[in-house]
Amino acid sequence: MDGSKSLNHVRCSFFTNGHIVSYKLHSLTPVFSSEITAVYFALKYIDVHDIRKSILYTISMSLLESLRSSSTRNSLIKEVKDFYRHLLSKGARILFSWVLSHVGITGNELADKSAKSATEFLTRPIVYADVRSAVNQWCHCQWQEKWNMETNNKLHVIKPVLSHWVTKLNRRCDVALTRLRIGHTRREHKYLLLAESPPTCSHCGDILTVKHILTDCVAVNRRRLRYFRSSSFDLSFLLGQIPHFNLFMYLKDIGVFRDI
Ligand SMILES: [Zn+2]
Repeated sequence: MDGSKSLNHVRCSFFTNGHIVSYKLHSLTPVFSSEITAVYFALKYIDVHDIRKSILYTISMSLLESLRSSSTRNSLIKEVKDFYRHLLSKGARILFSWVLSHVGITGNELADKSAKSATEFLTRPIVYADVRSAVNQWCHCQWQEKWNMETNNKLHVIKPVLSHWVTKLNRRCDVALTRLRIGHTRREHKYLLLAESPPTCSHCGDILTVKHILTDCVAVNRRRLRYFRSSSFDLSFLLGQIPHFNLFMYLKDIGVFRDI
């Protein structure tokens, strides 16, 4: 059995006794659902041809784990499991077997090739979870495309690829890291609220900004070099998806951590 996905099409197929069954599925169908669909039609074949003993081979471990799981909200898996139990109750003996790859297994190689060239379109409804996932993916791609154009946005260099931030630090460090990433620290913006003059760097006297503290201040170059092993880098090096290990030690050493 096999399921595959190319740019515009999704397909599934299975091979048995010299016979190949393959279908083209809706383009929103994920590969995982195409694999489950292949199982469904293999079971249908077993039922129609009244096959008493059979083994279904697949390369998809996640498929086997889903079928073995006792709790699932995926309606497609439920349907396949119900049908599988129905066949067992009729006396059929059906085993599932995982194989490392299609290579060397004639039936699976044929199923693999057949899945890639199937032309018969299968008009089965797409499950809600697959539609939701496809819509989310589409929205994310649109968002990423727009974000790719925002190269002048100061946040772009810190997070060029949209994804969730990983938060593994303690609460205080997480808050400080977020403030550094958006460039809005307590000290730096207090003057706006109080209509005071902008704060200046206690080391060199320049206007105090996150960029100045982390990359520009020449007065702390030596300490920056010691903590970051370099004095020439951009903010993504320190504040990106994985913040620099020594970031907070550096900020504490130069005496600005409390002001963030
Ligand atoms: Zn400075």
